[in-house]
Amino acid sequence: MRTTNKLQGTMNFEFTEEQIAVRDAARDFAQNVLKHGVIERDTHQRFPADEIKQLGELGFMGMMIDPNYGGSGMDTVSYVLAMEELSKVDASASVVVSVNNSLVCWGLDKYGSVEQKQKYLVPLAKGEKIGAFCLSEPEAGSDATSQRTTAEDKGDYYLLNGTKNWITNGGSASTYLVIAQTHPEKGHRGINCLIVERGMEGFMVGAKEDKLGIRGSDTHTIMFQDVKVPKENRIGEDGFGFKFAMSTLSGGRIGIAAQALGIASGAYELALAYSKERQAFGKPIHEHQAIAFKLADMATEIEAARLLCLKAAQVKDAGENFDLESSMAKLFASRVAMATTIEAVQIHGGYGFVKEYHVERLMRDAKITQIYEGTSEIQKIVISRALLKD
Ligand SMILES: Cc1cc2nc3c(=O)[nH]c(=O)nc-3n(C[C@H](O)[C@H](O)[C@H](O)COP(=O)(O)OP(=O)(O)OC[C@H]3O[C@@H](n4cnc5c(N)ncnc54)[C@H](O)[C@@H]3O)c2cc1C
Repeated sequence: MRTTNKLQGTMNFEFTEEQIAVRDAARDFAQNVLKHGVIERDTHQRFPADEIKQLGELGFMGMMIDPNYGGSGMDTVSYVLAMEELSKVDASASVVVSVNNSLVCWGLDKYGSVEQKQKYLVPLAKGEKIGAFCLSEPEAGSDATSQRTTAEDKGDYYLLNGTKNWITNGGSASTYLVIAQTHPEKGHRGINCLIVERGMEGFMVGAKEDKLGIRGSDTHTIMFQDVKVPKENRIGEDGFGFKFAMSTLSGGRIGIAAQALGIASGAYELALAYSKERQAFGKPIHEHQAIAFKLADMATEIEAARLLCLKAAQVKDAGENFDLESSMAKLFASRVAMATTIEAVQIHGGYGFVKEYHVERLMRDAKITQIYEGTSEIQKIVISRALLKD
């Protein structure tokens, strides 16, 4: 299936028994465990600590990691299926899963040394510890090349100074992958990624952000003041940090695309069920064509988003470059999440505007999928550059 000459490969529409089992396990967990207390966690901005621990025990925190390093050895398609199911119910829990799996564990597995994997990856992949990915700064969001955090080379250690903001799992993590500038004269080729442990002297966690959505997730500013990070905690060669960040973010986008897909399909399922229950003018509201057509649009767009997510996952699993596919999946699925959740609130009428019916939370949660791990505008830059490259 070739849609443009820049997109690759054929697509397999059949899931394996293992992929179906993973999806069903994630669905059971979401419906039976995550659903309980999701409104309260959102209201009080409470991190789902127990739920994340259980997800770790079930193998969902290091899904794509080699079992020799504590992971579950699953493929990216399974990851997408699980992320959709978890996100239908609790996008705050699913972002913790996504960051740990794709921004932290996957990056360590692909680019870390054997020693780094043994020390840091094993507990992260088992879900015994939680990881965070620290790229964004007050003055470096979309323009991630303008890093002001510095990692000064002091011989056998780096001296780390600076501030990172918007860090998911910021208050709950133990292991932080921190992007910092070592050789400013080399621009982005002078950037490194260091593994930083919570508790290192000079490491500080700032106040928790009070957010519009994904309120159960834990977003903080992180500060480093003369933190001594051993040289062996640098990932890859000197100056590899920016490439590391871009590569892990490309994989992360598949997770966020699947999160957006789950938010959309969760809202759609609630709206569909409600449209059968709610009566207006003597009949269920879905018998009014205006409502039925909304459902038709929602279902069609969700299916298209699902196909883009699965395509990106399959290209990644095939070992091909998946930058274009992951950006397309994130751009489209996040747009669908926003549009679908707005319509789901509309279908619920006044009931959609209150917490009890869940769709208002899904609408608030949808917005972040157009912002983090590269805004929609940045995805269009990635996509158009790939399309226009000779
Ligand atoms: C809840 C939450 C969790 C997050 N988690 C993490 C995390 O765990 N780790 C981490 O490192 N970061 C994290 N982020 C940061 C997130 O990735 C950034 O917010 C995002 O990349 C955008 O950066 P910015 O906020 O500085 O916006 P800016 O870069 O200032 O962008 C502002 C606007 O300008 C647009 N824009 C910027 N440049 C261009 C351009 N060249 N062309 C067209 N439009 C452009 C943007 O699309 C946007 O609409 C998180 C953010 C939030 C809100």
